[in-house]
Amino acid sequence: MIWTKLGHDEILDRVNIALSKNKDFAKEHLIGVPASYLDPKVFSPDSNLLKDAPFLTTLVKNPNHIGCHTMGHSESFFRGTQEIERETIAICAEEILKAEPLSYDGYVASGGTEANIQAIWIYRNYFMREHGAKSSEIALICSEHSHYSMDKAANLLGIQIFKSSVDPTTMSVTPESVNQVLALGKKNNIKYCIVVANMMTTMFGSVDSPSTYAEALLANNMPFKLHVDGAFGGFYYPFSNPDFELNFKNEHVNSVTLDAHKMAQAPYGTGIFIIRKNWMKYATTEEASYIVGEDSTLIGSRSGANAVSIWMILSTYGKFGWIEKIFILQKRTDWLCKQLEEAEIRFYRNPYSNIVTIQGDLVPKELAEEYGLVPDNHHDPKWYKIVVMDHVSIEELQEFLGKLPQKINA
Ligand SMILES: *Cc1c(COP(=O)(O)O)cnc(C)c1O
Repeated sequence: MIWTKLGHDEILDRVNIALSKNKDFAKEHLIGVPASYLDPKVFSPDSNLLKDAPFLTTLVKNPNHIGCHTMGHSESFFRGTQEIERETIAICAEEILKAEPLSYDGYVASGGTEANIQAIWIYRNYFMREHGAKSSEIALICSEHSHYSMDKAANLLGIQIFKSSVDPTTMSVTPESVNQVLALGKKNNIKYCIVVANMMTTMFGSVDSPSTYAEALLANNMPFKLHVDGAFGGFYYPFSNPDFELNFKNEHVNSVTLDAHKMAQAPYGTGIFIIRKNWMKYATTEEASYIVGEDSTLIGSRSGANAVSIWMILSTYGKFGWIEKIFILQKRTDWLCKQLEEAEIRFYRNPYSNIVTIQGDLVPKELAEEYGLVPDNHHDPKWYKIVVMDHVSIEELQEFLGKLPQKINA
């Protein structure tokens, strides 16, 4: 097992060793890069303040993790913290997503949006390069509940997008809806598909089965590559449902997005992109000639401190600590659902999820505003969601429930 629990001092030592392997702008010759430590007039490099604060120390030292460090050559200036990024990717790929060692590449992206676009960019280029596809022949296939980064990706990459409808009970895509979408695609001269399956949607926490997509695409003789959007669910669903299918043991799953800045409570800027080996090359920009190893990522410069923050969080808990953390959130969500059932208030919840979506007309608008419930649509809310996070206690949920009008039936 590579995902072990470490004590505070071990984490501190490990980050300090990594930083000592990086070039230090203050102490070593490094006069040819357009980079430095954070401005010391504004961000104090005072060692007393930064003692025992490895994330802040890394921020102040400001290593740049530009490029992808699980493959090829990397900039040697920041090799210490790049090593921590590699370890972070390894924990996510192997311990969470069931990949074999050395069978994947990945990097810490700016967020789920970037990681999703990175995947779709790679597959678009793959179909163009290897199959001679025109961009007009490539479609992005996802669900009506997919995140809006799908629309951004299709728009940026100049490909069409088709959304399958979902079953109103499970909120997952159905074989019929995927078949319908493929028929429509064929009418629009689509010959290749990029599929994005959801591992917990933003609004409902609903999950798609990769085989629903794969079976329909295979039956239609439609070449496809499948990406998993686990921006919300990546640090939750694999633990609440250990038999989950959306991982690298499934032959159809080629890449996955996970966001540490959602359920893992990491700072923003900690999206994670993981893909099977030998696929990053479809996003390599060879013109990035001043970067050692070129650049196969969408973003360009990015802070090494982000990778360090994810590694610190995962190492503080260890695998079993994480299982416990999710177990507690599951129990709280179960409790909430039981209360709603008893009050006969209609809601949707995937049994393995911490998102509870309540029918909009059952929640007075003022109450939704007071508790910061998020609607599906700000103009005309049909649903409001509660996300059971670390700070969402039973006491707080109880108070909220006490203010809900009781026994309204849908
Ligand atoms: C939040 C989210 C995203 C986008 O992630 P950002 O980190 O905000 O860019 C994508 N997909 C899903 C399912 C999400 O919940």
